[in-house]
Amino acid sequence: MTGDDERFLRRAIELAAEARAGGNPPFGSLLAGPDGGILAEERNTSVTDADITAHPELKLARWAARELDRATAAATTMYTSCRPCGMCAGAIERSGLGRVVYALSPEQLASLKSPGATPVVFPFSEEGPALFDEARVPVQGYY
Ligand SMILES: [Zn+2]
Repeated sequence: MTGDDERFLRRAIELAAEARAGGNPPFGSLLAGPDGGILAEERNTSVTDADITAHPELKLARWAARELDRATAAATTMYTSCRPCGMCAGAIERSGLGRVVYALSPEQLASLKSPGATPVVFPFSEEGPALFDEARVPVQGYY
């Protein structure tokens, strides 16, 4: 990790504090482009937007996929106050962003929560695959 990495991470931590001050969960992220400039910043707004997907990493991954060409996205780094959750990690993979640098690990985050804190992720049951002959029809030939 370089001095620039630490500087950008400190900004992500500031954004996390701003999210909390605004009534949202304490997470913030930014994108630093190939030339080292900040391209975009986001804060968690899942409470004020009443949107469980309003994580800063997801918003930035969507922005990157929309606004950056592939080469620029691959050379862009996301700095984020906590390691991205599974939802955001999936979006980052699809965005083409080349690198993620985070401050808190999931284990460190868990250690900072109260013992009785409400979980934010719930297990669910899953069944499948099923109906292959029908389900393949709209897919076959698309890719
Ligand atoms: Zn997330």
